[in-house]
Amino acid sequence: MRDARARALRDLRISVTDRCNFRCTYCMPKDVFGKDYPFLPHAQLLSFEEIARIARVFVDHGVGKIRLTGGEPLLRRNVERLVEMLAGLGDVDLTLTINGSLLARKARALRAAGLKRVTVSLDSLDDRVFRAMNDADYPVAQVLDGIDAAEAAGLAPLKVNMVVKRGVNDGDILPMARFFRGSGRVLRFIEFMDVGATNGWRMDDVVPSAEVIARINAEMPLEPVDPNYSGEVAERWRYRDGGGEIGVISSVTQAFCRDCTRARLSTEGMVYTCLFATSGFDLRALVRGGASDEELGAAIRRIWRARADRYSEMRTAQTAGLRKIEMSYIGG
Ligand code: SAM
Ligand code: SF4
Ligand code: SF4
Repeated sequence: MRDARARALRDLRISVTDRCNFRCTYCMPKDVFGKDYPFLPHAQLLSFEEIARIARVFVDHGVGKIRLTGGEPLLRRNVERLVEMLAGLGDVDLTLTINGSLLARKARALRAAGLKRVTVSLDSLDDRVFRAMNDADYPVAQVLDGIDAAEAAGLAPLKVNMVVKRGVNDGDILPMARFFRGSGRVLRFIEFMDVGATNGWRMDDVVPSAEVIARINAEMPLEPVDPNYSGEVAERWRYRDGGGEIGVISSVTQAFCRDCTRARLSTEGMVYTCLFATSGFDLRALVRGGASDEELGAAIRRIWRARADRYSEMRTAQTAGLRKIEMSYIGG
């Protein structure tokens, strides 16, 4: 099945909660996501059974990779039960993106539920910088403990995501590279993006991936690695001395819309065909209205075939100001 730009449907990102215990300044700034923020009430969320059913229909339509995200996925109660249901879908590469703060507590239950890998976000090894970025006073040590617990539980190889913002944590690029080099963990540098409508994005705050690579290469020589598959989001590099791999995700300076095979299912069951979408398609209404799997499948085919999104290829200072869906809701 191909969309209007001949792209296949391969990946599904599922947001399991719009809530988070962090207030990362680039994602859920505290002045917007404050005490009175109207997070979704529980009845609005898709149940695990509903998520698993929708996911199964997506798998029947070509999805081979499912990532649970949010918000902070580990805040959703008993999320390991959902993991178990999705792991039972068969030949699907299942993973989770998490902030690491609750991982030490959950790692073994997640592994026992059938999870194989996780991606953990960590923006700095400097406690002062990290606490300022997560704006919830979480220390680096708690995330590193979570990473250790994940590996001890068998969740490996582990990926680490670092969003780079100029003047905030670009001084941490080299310390992070040095720390994770040779550890078997794959550090990935993400360009700061204009997701949502509240993070105050400016092009000046973006550190282009080419600059990240140049800075690391000057100290620890790198060479490019072929992608694992077409449509891979991260561009891969490896240390020439065998110290392992890193990745860069350059959605601002080198848009990869042409190969984008991702659909997103929001916490309340809306399907979005782009991270920067301004509107979606209500699958929950179909599910709760008694639609058959056949009818769900027909809706997914309609949605995908009409898809023409290529936001990152058209990004300008003006589009950055559009009222897009917040990332914590749509799922990063
Ligand atoms: N709470 C989980 C976490 O932080 O890993 C999962 C959800 S989070 C929205 C998913 C990923 O998106 C994280 O790696 C996060 O750093 C990244 N992210 C959030 N806002 C971003 C932005 N404005 N630009 C680039 N990446 C961003
Ligand atoms: Fe929470 Fe993740 Fe967003 Fe940070 S990036 S506020 S941890 S959802
Ligand atoms: Fe895919 Fe939209 Fe990102 Fe382009 S901007 S890569 S279409 S999610």
